Amino acid sequence: MNLVTRLSRSLGQKGRADITLVDENLSHIWKPSLHEFAAGTKGPEEEISFLEHSNRNGYKFRLGRFAGVDYQERWVMLDPVLSDEDVELSPARAVPYDILVLAIGSRSNDFGTSGVSEHCLFLDTPTEAKRLQSAILNLCLRMETGALDVDNDAIRLAIVGGGATGVELAAELREATEQLGRNGIDKLRIPDSVGITVIEGSERLVGALPESISEKVLHELETLNVDVLLGTRVTKVSEKTLKLGNGDSLDAEIIVWAAGIQSNKALASAVDLEVGSLGRLLVGPTLQTTCEDRIFAMGDAADCYWPEQECSLPPRAQVASQQAAFLEAQIKRMISGRALTEFKYTDHGSLVALSSSSAIGSLMGRALGTMTLKGWLAHRAYKYLHYQHEAAVQGHFRATVRTFLSMAMRRVRPRLKLH
Ligand SMILES: Cc1cc2nc3c(=O)[nH]c(=O)nc-3n(C[C@H](O)[C@H](O)[C@H](O)COP(=O)(O)OP(=O)(O)OC[C@H]3O[C@@H](n4cnc5c(N)ncnc54)[C@H](O)[C@@H]3O)c2cc1C
Repeated sequence: MNLVTRLSRSLGQKGRADITLVDENLSHIWKPSLHEFAAGTKGPEEEISFLEHSNRNGYKFRLGRFAGVDYQERWVMLDPVLSDEDVELSPARAVPYDILVLAIGSRSNDFGTSGVSEHCLFLDTPTEAKRLQSAILNLCLRMETGALDVDNDAIRLAIVGGGATGVELAAELREATEQLGRNGIDKLRIPDSVGITVIEGSERLVGALPESISEKVLHELETLNVDVLLGTRVTKVSEKTLKLGNGDSLDAEIIVWAAGIQSNKALASAVDLEVGSLGRLLVGPTLQTTCEDRIFAMGDAADCYWPEQECSLPPRAQVASQQAAFLEAQIKRMISGRALTEFKYTDHGSLVALSSSSAIGSLMGRALGTMTLKGWLAHRAYKYLHYQHEAAVQGHFRATVRTFLSMAMRRVRPRLKLH
């Protein structure tokens, strides 16, 4: 979204290029906020329609699921997209290109663990976030009405993976279930009526962030009455039960798998390009794929080397948005026949949101050095990141109006999606 908006404004609207966005969904959700959709604290009004956005910004939107590339003829092949009722919304078709950018993100990595795909919920797509939201709401309703037979009148939610996704989801679910208690589901007002457990294989939470932040996040989750099992691997999942590496079992009505990422499965079956770590497309410093000069890859879909840290760039929104800004300039260079340049990533730090008013993280900058933030200020900084994304794709005026409208709506509608 970030890249297509930039290219439309600088090339499409000036008639210098014909720009097409293909997506398998009809609307855009900023992926770092998926846990808020899953908890019901954000609703459909936060989504941006591709149809409306493309019309306003002067690019074409094509609904379709990426299925492969015909390199000789330069066509992107698309699989059909079906509605929830299995009605075909778009047929198999092909879209021509001169320059192609693959930015189809990633999906959860089950590391081959038995039973995960059958018995876990995921948080990779808007559809999965909505599925999780209704599963949690239904579970709470069934407990309230007596339709659910649970031990000690308590429901249990387990989240596998203590990275940013798992940790943010745990905090958001704690807040959401407390809100449900205030919105008519009386049994949720009873202390310990919702048990939330985060299971992490390594010895600390949010392993990609500095150790001091992991400790603060752990402390914050304990304050929110979230159980954390560190150094614990899940070896098997069956219906409502997790088998742990130490031989123990853990029962849970809902199990969410958020234990790291791998490449989007469409890439594995569809593209004959060189892949790197986690099955992502290998790109050079210009972000061109290693076999096809006219094909770029970015964001979670790309495996791009980070020379300063001697590893691949992490799958983060911050990497994707810096690559979008870089690719706008890079594509303009390619079109005008100028030499391409190399992408350089700058780590500005990371923030982990822990509920509607708190966050923890570190910000990095030349003037600041590394600064640890916690609490309300950190949460404001986190919200500002979302605003920056909104402003990049909607413009500052719309982003500001949408932010104020969303603040105003919170005063007149339930804080949670309750249906
Ligand atoms: C709950 C959660 C919290 C997160 N929090 C943070 C955070 O705090 N900070 C941070 O830096 N990162 C965070 N991340 C990671 C961040 O969201 C990703 O790194 C970032 O969104 C990657 O951007 P992308 O453009 O590569 O992919 P995505 O944002 O995943 O976009 C991929 C797009 O491709 C479309 N698509 C997928 N498959 C196909 C297909 N086959 N055909 C057509 N279209 C397709 C999708 O519909 C989507 O629009 C979080 C992720 C999650 C899930």
